[in-house]
Amino acid sequence: MSELTPDQERRYNRQLIMPEIGQEGQVRLRASSVLVVGTGGLGSPVLFYLAGAGVGRLGILDDDQVDLSNLQRQILHRTDGLGMDKVESARQALQRLNPDVALDLHKCRLTEENASSLIAPYDVVVGAVDNLATRYVLNAACVMMRKPLVEAGVSGFSGMATTIIPTKTPCYHCLFPRPEAGLQEPRYKGIIGALAGLMGTIEALETIKLLLGQGELLTGRLLFVDSLSMGFREIDVERNPECPICKDENGTTRSPSRASPNDH
Ligand SMILES: [Zn+2]
Repeated sequence: MSELTPDQERRYNRQLIMPEIGQEGQVRLRASSVLVVGTGGLGSPVLFYLAGAGVGRLGILDDDQVDLSNLQRQILHRTDGLGMDKVESARQALQRLNPDVALDLHKCRLTEENASSLIAPYDVVVGAVDNLATRYVLNAACVMMRKPLVEAGVSGFSGMATTIIPTKTPCYHCLFPRPEAGLQEPRYKGIIGALAGLMGTIEALETIKLLLGQGELLTGRLLFVDSLSMGFREIDVERNPECPICKDENGTTRSPSRASPNDH
C-alpha cells in the first residue's frame, strides 16, 4: 500500500504517534469503508470522528431533511441548512472537515428490499437510527451479509451500545427478540444532545478499533449509560441458539441468554 502524503502525515500526526495506529494503521483506515445509517444525534458524531480519523470511504444514509428541531443534537447540520437533504448537509460539513474522505450519499430509507445491496460494499456498518423497525431490518441484513454492526440507542438521559460480529456474537435480535405480534415503538422520551454525542462517540471508537483490529470490542457485552447518575454498567450477553436471525445452520450448543433494556 502507498505511503501517506506529507499533508496526511501532518493531519493525522496525533494518531500516527500512537503505537496502536502508526503508519500501518493509518493506511488501513484510509483503505477502509464504513456505512453510517442515519445522520441524526448518533450519526453526526460518528461521521465527524470517522472522517476526522481518515477512514477512506464513508457511506451516509438518510432520507430526511434538516428541521429546526434537529439542531439541538444533530451537530452535522446548521441553521442555514434548514430544509436541505440531510445527506447533502452532512456531505458539506464532512468535506469541509476532511476533503480526503470519499463520501457516498444514499438519500433513502433502509428497507428489507434495499438493505443488503446498500451494506454490501462496506467493511463495517454503524446503526445510528431512531426507530426499532429499522434496527431489526439493519441487524438481519448485517447478519445475512456477515457485516460487523456497531449499534447504539438513546432515550432521555439513558443510552445503550453493543458491537455485533455476525455468527460470533449475539445479534440485536438475540438480545431483544422482536415481538411476534407487530412492533410497538417505545414512547418517545425526548433526548439530550450531549448524550447522543457520547453514545455516537462510543460507536465511532468501536468502529475505529474494529477497522484497526485493536483493543477489546463491546462484543457479547451490552453497555448501559445512565447519564443522570453518570453510571456506566455492562452486562455479558450470549447468542440465542434459537435466534431466527443468526441461528447457525448446524446448530449451536450454548444456552440461551436474553437481556432486556430494563436489566440495569
Ligand atoms: Zn441472533
